[in-house]
Amino acid sequence: MKQSQLFTKTRREAPADEVSKNAILLTRAGFINKEMAGVYDFLPLGLRVLNKIIGIIREEMNTLGAQEILMSSLQRKELWQRTDRWDDAKVDNWFKTQLKDGGELGLAFTHEEPISNTLEQFVSSYKDLPFSVYQFQTKFRNEARAKSGIMRTREFIMKDLYSFNIDEAAHQNFYERAKESYRKIFNRMGIGDKTYLTEASGGSFSARSHEFQTITDAGEDTIFITNEGKKEAVNKEVDDRQEAGHKAVEVGNIFTLGTKFSDPYLKFKDQAGKEHNVFMGSYGIGPARVMGTIVEVLSDEKGIIWPKEVAPFRVHLISLGQHSVLANEVYQKLQAENIEVLYDDRDARAGEKFADADLIGIPTRVVIGDKALESKMLEIKERNSEDAKMMTLEHLINELSKS
Ligand code: ATP
Ligand code: MG
Repeated sequence: MKQSQLFTKTRREAPADEVSKNAILLTRAGFINKEMAGVYDFLPLGLRVLNKIIGIIREEMNTLGAQEILMSSLQRKELWQRTDRWDDAKVDNWFKTQLKDGGELGLAFTHEEPISNTLEQFVSSYKDLPFSVYQFQTKFRNEARAKSGIMRTREFIMKDLYSFNIDEAAHQNFYERAKESYRKIFNRMGIGDKTYLTEASGGSFSARSHEFQTITDAGEDTIFITNEGKKEAVNKEVDDRQEAGHKAVEVGNIFTLGTKFSDPYLKFKDQAGKEHNVFMGSYGIGPARVMGTIVEVLSDEKGIIWPKEVAPFRVHLISLGQHSVLANEVYQKLQAENIEVLYDDRDARAGEKFADADLIGIPTRVVIGDKALESKMLEIKERNSEDAKMMTLEHLINELSKS
């Protein structure tokens, strides 16, 4: 894409009403727009990153064998009354609303009950199990604190996965596979080395759960590392020791639910015709929270440093001075190789272009200036390195196709 066509602009100044690094950098770079506290829009660059994150999660969910669906945000009160959750004091962040004729509705903060209700018609025998379903769906939560930029918002897309098994042993098998799948997801997103599988409480869902916690000062939780090699930790909320822990943010959460939420809805008959409850698990990730976490963890004083798989573009092509003929040619050739390029074709000073490139954080910068024109070599600099290298276009294409 040509940067001259991009309707968003970068800004030098931090927005006055933001305190979190992720919101400040993402706003300055033109990725997001704040509607109100805890509510953000995704602009072209931001949406590209969000979609990359969603794409990685989707690939791993499909590999796990889960089937994608999309459920509604408006939910019936009756479904939640059947599990005694409509008036559950533990759920303190529910947005509820009213129909014109008086009936009450809930705005989705999670989906255990509605999904169980939907699946009731399809599950009657052990032959119908196991299976798992997932979605990327808008959740609403009336969060008390919304000061963490896109890491804690009142409206957000959640990836929620639900598993359905005949018993606990079968569930446990899937649960372990889901853990591995989450590991892969966070590794691919570039935060794997800072992300710990953490024993935690289960909130309003279950007695215990596992969280995936990424260490950052921007986090609201405290974790104690229990095994560095295996990247395991325990949340302070279930292990209140005195030693200094690490600040961390929960990027994902997995729960063994048992039959609590499926009980009113899902029963199956075993081979002998005896009826049982379906054993459930649920598994969440907040793609925008992950995006905010990446910015918190991978940025410097100049801006964001996107990992390759989630970057809005793979290459930032910058033409300086009067070299647009060569730059156009490089742009065409990179695109022909299916390499995603943001092409800074704007009529602007070199310093401004470089500052914007550092702020936006695309992994590889390619500069077309006097040096390139004289030597027929391109000046290449990785966002996470100080040194520039000279190489031919062919060499660059070769390098990019390897990574
Ligand atoms: P937290 O403890 O941080 O409030 P939670 O335990 O309530 O989160 P879950 O209900 O397990 O979160 O939601 C699944 C995932 O959705 C979380 O791991 C997180 O990545 C994401 N998420 C939860 N709340 C928010 C929010 N307010 N804004 C953005 N993402 C969120
Ligand atoms: Mg939590």
